[in-house]
Formats: sequence, structure tokens, C-alpha cells
Amino acid sequence: MLTDNFNRVHDYLRISLTDKCNFNCAYCNPDSSNYIKLLRENILSFDELLRLIGIFGNAGVKKIRFTGGEPLARKNVFEFFLQASKLKTKFNFEFAITTNGSLLEGNVSKLKDAGIDKLNISLDSLNSERFYRITKQDKLDAVLSSIKEAKQTGFNPLKINTVVMKGINDDEVTDFVEFAVINDLNIRFIEFMPFGNNAWTSDAFISWQNIKSKIEEMYELIPVNTNPHSVAKDFSIKGMPGKVSFISSISDHFCSSCNRLRITANGKLKLCLFTNGKNEIDFKMLLNDDSLNDDDILNIISDTLKLKSEKHPPVNELLTYEENNMLSIGG
Ligand code: SF4
Repeated sequence: MLTDNFNRVHDYLRISLTDKCNFNCAYCNPDSSNYIKLLRENILSFDELLRLIGIFGNAGVKKIRFTGGEPLARKNVFEFFLQASKLKTKFNFEFAITTNGSLLEGNVSKLKDAGIDKLNISLDSLNSERFYRITKQDKLDAVLSSIKEAKQTGFNPLKINTVVMKGINDDEVTDFVEFAVINDLNIRFIEFMPFGNNAWTSDAFISWQNIKSKIEEMYELIPVNTNPHSVAKDFSIKGMPGKVSFISSISDHFCSSCNRLRITANGKLKLCLFTNGKNEIDFKMLLNDDSLNDDDILNIISDTLKLKSEKHPPVNELLTYEENNMLSIGG
């Protein structure tokens, strides 16, 4: 078991398959960003990824989420999922994916066939002009079709991730709840988080409490019990289908029950979403060191995990983390 010095068991691994993305979302990959894309040779190969998944399987990891950039933008990704599904059976993993949904249309059943159990689709506006302003892509219809197809293919509950930015899309939160009611979805409102290249400001920040208050002008939200490791605060909507959740990393963090580790697209192990290159293992280097076998690498992971901080630093420190880019971490 992968346990840190605060007795937190880490059994959830998030893997960024690529830093490539076809969107330029304001909170992750704004087109004004000075982020330098990773070279292909620095991205973990499928064989390296599969070996790492095996190593973490032996370490007791139970859930793996594939992220990006946009994971479906990675070439031959469905072949990779099929290969990974063999390890899914061996280790009884739960597989999940977070996607912007624009490359999903017509491919949803392939995800199911490849053993993906859970699907989160990012959607930050229901208004096509605003969708374009946030993502720099005119793809709202494609994303809405993917959501419909995912529901029809049996991804239930289907989770919709919405990053709420003040003065940008916070006036749509009740529209999103209505969308969740009509389509019986789990809408997850995510607090805007500071990352190296997203020009975060406190003016554009709105806390989960304030988002919830806006919603409660129209809907009655009822708290529902949530898995203690879950990042979300979940609510049902009185008398209606659908679910509303809040992810409050900034205003009300959930670090005490953190069970997550991350592998970046270029093979760095991040002990926490918010680390600025500190205590990051370089798997690309370790996997290509012939003197190390899988057990050796597992021991290095376990030792490094003892260096994990109890919680993430305060915002003013996060704002100095220029190297911490959502694009290669995957959230
Ligand atoms: S901020 Fe870091 S420690 Fe806190 S919950 Fe997220 S990953 Fe875990």
C-alpha cells in the first residue's frame, strides 16, 4: 500500500496521456500561454505507461483516470486502452477518463469496450458564443452530441465538469442545473484554480459557497453522503433528477483525505496537484535504467511519498508556481 506520513492511502492514480489538446481553455491552455509543448520523445510511450500501470497495480492502486491535455487527441489511444484493459482485469482496476468531449462523438462505445467505467466530460458554457470565447473552438454542438451519446451508451451517472469563473460563466450556473435536471446528469462545479499559465486572479474567483447560493435562489439542494475520499461535495436537487457537486480546492480544500497521485504526460510523478517540480520522480529516466527492476521503482515511489505535504500551499504561493501547468498534469 502506498501510504504517506499522514497515513493517507494512495490508491487513485491520474495519468496524463498527452499535453496535446484541440482546445485553448482560458483556465488551462489559454492561447496567450507561453507553455512550450512537450517533444514526442519526452512523452511516455504506451509500453512505459503499461509498465507503470502494472507497478502501481502491485502497489494497491484501485482506480486510474486518464487525462491530458485531451486524452483522445493522443494517436492510437483506443489501442492503448484495449491493451490497458488486460491490466484492468488483472488488478481489478476501475478505469475513468476526463475529456473535453469534442473527439468523442461516435467513439463512446469504443471506450466502453476498452473497459472505461467512468466518464467525465468538460463543459464550461451552454452558450455557443461564450463556449467559443472560453475554448477558442466552435464545438459546443459536438460536445452536446457526445453527452447524449454517452448517456445512451450507459455511462451513468455521467459527470459534467464545469470550471466556474466570475464574470465569465458564473451567470450560467442555474442553466447548468436545469441542463442536469433535464438530462439527469451530475453537474460538478469546479473552483477556478491557479496554474502556471492561466493568469488566475482573485477577481475571477468564485467560491463553491457563492455558487451554491446562486443555485439556491431557484433550487433546493439536499446534501448526499459522499465517499470520504471524494473531492466533491454532492447534493441532490429536491424533487428532481440530476445531481449537483462542488469541488472546492481553493476555498475549502480536501487534502486530509487525499488518495491521489498523478503522472504527467512526460512521466513525472506528482505527489500533489500543486507541486512546483519539487520531489517529482522522473519515470522516463527510471524506466530506462536497466539496473532497476519494478520492485526497485516501487520502493523509490514509496520512499518519495513520505515527502508529500499535508496540504497544498496557500494561493499566493501557488501563484508563483510557473512550472505547474494544467496542460501536462491533467487536473
Ligand atoms: S491539493 Fe494536493 S494534497 Fe490536496 S487534495 Fe489535491 S492533490 Fe491532494
